[in-house]
Amino acid sequence: MLGGFGVGQSEASAHAGNGVTGNRFLDLLGGAAASLLPGLESFRAHAGLSAGWAVFPAPGTVLARVLVLQDGRIAQAALIGAAGLVPGPRHDPLGRDRIQTLIPGLAFRVPAEQFAQAAAHFAPLAPALAEYELAQLCSAWHGLACAALHPVEQRLAHWLLEVASVAGQGTQPPVELPVTQAMLAGLLGLRRTTVTRAMMALEQRGLILHRRSRVRILDRQGLLQAACECHDTNRQRLAAPRAMVNGNSLAT
Ligand SMILES: [Zn+2]
Repeated sequence: MLGGFGVGQSEASAHAGNGVTGNRFLDLLGGAAASLLPGLESFRAHAGLSAGWAVFPAPGTVLARVLVLQDGRIAQAALIGAAGLVPGPRHDPLGRDRIQTLIPGLAFRVPAEQFAQAAAHFAPLAPALAEYELAQLCSAWHGLACAALHPVEQRLAHWLLEVASVAGQGTQPPVELPVTQAMLAGLLGLRRTTVTRAMMALEQRGLILHRRSRVRILDRQGLLQAACECHDTNRQRLAAPRAMVNGNSLAT
């Protein structure tokens, strides 16, 4: 699952050259992308991603940053969709973090060094990157409290809403996510039987439908009510990242 870098050649390479990719950071570069990122190419993300690239998911594609423990178990640290990116070299000197594909789909990539140079020369990128990285960091911190304090059923409801939101399917019913119970158990650090029980509870309340390797959100409002406070907190955080960077507000 954390293996090779899946490249589907030129699935939509035309988008990479015309400045409209659907990815927030690439589209921020606009027409400058062609000159600043000459190595930009499209590919189909479907497995683990190698560390030497900056990666930009297109709408609908979701990546997960995970931490790998010594015994091989993993836990999700962040979700990355079209509003985000993987900037390149990992920050963890121990090499315990990985990027893997959660919802396969189109993405763009460029050698990480090339993106770092573009970020240094294209002024609008710097504040956007700072905002994004701070929001991701705060979200990860909040995730620690969520995992320690919130009941599994609430966490699961929150996670499903979060993935749907990152995938860009936040308000379009019916939302269907290609996730398995085993995947959920791994990312959330739970036993599979625990995930099964929580899934069944949400299903019995008519909020989701789980079949084979897909989860369909049937009642988004109901799922919002079933979720812990963290989904709403993350939405507030993403809505006001600039104020946080400028030091105007650290409240969530
Ligand atoms: Zn929570």
